[in-house]
Amino acid sequence: MNSILEKANYCASCVTKPCQVGCPFNNDITAFIKDIKNEDYEHAYRVLCQTTVLPAICGRVCPYDKQCQGACVKKVSYDAVRIGELEAFIGDLSIKNNWSIVRNDCPKRWEKVAIVGGGPAGLVCAAFLAINGISSVIYEKHNYLGGILSHGIPEFRLPKDILKKTIDKILDLGVEVKFNQELGRDITLDYLEKEYDAVFLGIGGNISLKMHIPGEDLRGVYGGNEILENNSHPDYHGKTVIVSGGGNVAMDVSRTIKRLGAEHVYVIYRRGEKEMPATKEEIADAKKDGVEFLFQHNILKIDGVTKVKGVEVIKTDLIQKEGESRLSPVNIEGSNYHIPCDYVMMAIGSMVEESVVSGLGLERTPRGKVKIDQEGRTSRENIFAGGDLTNTPGTVAFAGRSGRDAAYAIMEYLDKKNGN
Ligand SMILES: Cc1cc2nc3c(=O)[nH]c(=O)nc-3n(C[C@H](O)[C@H](O)[C@H](O)COP(=O)(O)OP(=O)(O)OC[C@H]3O[C@@H](n4cnc5c(N)ncnc54)[C@H](O)[C@@H]3O)c2cc1C
Repeated sequence: MNSILEKANYCASCVTKPCQVGCPFNNDITAFIKDIKNEDYEHAYRVLCQTTVLPAICGRVCPYDKQCQGACVKKVSYDAVRIGELEAFIGDLSIKNNWSIVRNDCPKRWEKVAIVGGGPAGLVCAAFLAINGISSVIYEKHNYLGGILSHGIPEFRLPKDILKKTIDKILDLGVEVKFNQELGRDITLDYLEKEYDAVFLGIGGNISLKMHIPGEDLRGVYGGNEILENNSHPDYHGKTVIVSGGGNVAMDVSRTIKRLGAEHVYVIYRRGEKEMPATKEEIADAKKDGVEFLFQHNILKIDGVTKVKGVEVIKTDLIQKEGESRLSPVNIEGSNYHIPCDYVMMAIGSMVEESVVSGLGLERTPRGKVKIDQEGRTSRENIFAGGDLTNTPGTVAFAGRSGRDAAYAIMEYLDKKNGN
């Protein structure tokens, strides 16, 4: 099944549309695939525009097996419809043919919204406000937009050109951007509240979690999120690098480092391959790149005096604990051994920038994220939030969806405030 038409025709167009429920954006998947079957590609794009402005991106990076394709009825007995590839096909055509994002037929409004952070959450929020006639200004701390799409996900998974052209389409809606503006350094929430009718916070949470094990402060230990964001790597040639973790960050860090010349890159993960949060494709691609995996291993400490010399690891067993949905790793006593290495990358999870978030005066979740309701409202009525800063699942599509939900909640808030 090679051609796009064959892939589209494989879709059963089921009436119940479980794929739409599985898609965080709730894209009308059967409808846009039906347009592909009829070779009406522009209409397929218009269908997607009702719910998303990131088709060329989500079609490449979404964990579809856990989202839309995971819900496909065909998957029960055969392979799922290749929804990701079909979405990317339409997204790419929209770029190639310069099709504009479809605006709603409504008058331009006078209110203005401040958006902090130009990642998927902020960009999608700005787009859906503009689609509905509301202007916004994005305040971004870097001199580029995209957030993790730009500085986290490597070029070999998401071409920069596709990202740039997707963002350009959003900016073409009339969204303004102020670069090099960091909340907490150059601007305050007080200032934004005075200047704007509402504020959306989408500053993400790209700080690597620590394992809190001995040796973590040694020279040569890095946070996976930071090393990708800052793109400032040591020389890996002839070196051995340990990557701790099993998700997107661990895969992107290990593959990037291997491609930068490391002799050995070992990913150490506490559970088994089946339990890894990274997608099957990402794991297969990492193996193809020469990344080596040590499943059911735990790092106990990092050895060295001032600089990393190695890690002490221990093997684990997996057991089913009561009340836990996933198998839990337990260390196997006496199975410790030492692996010599030059660098250790922490990629076990991410958190929000505490120094910025603690000063916002917003209610937080027990994990320190900004608490929002289903529509992106925070504990203050004029402040909205979404994406990794909040209790939203950490994927591009969920971040985007939260930005879209917040855009509609902002419109509702502005209508109420203006007595409409
Ligand atoms: C390495 C890596 C790979 C990933 N791979 C995938 C994948 O393949 N598929 C998938 O679905 N998800 C993936 N994810 C998760 C996904 O990228 C995130 O969930 C998503 O980007 C969150 O979007 P966001 O807009 O909330 O935050 P971000 O993308 O982090 O964007 C936040 C933006 O805010 C800006 N900012 C931060 N602080 C401030 C401040 N104080 N003032 C102003 N601006 C600020 C940042 O510069 C950035 O532009 C990956 C994550 C990482 C780290």
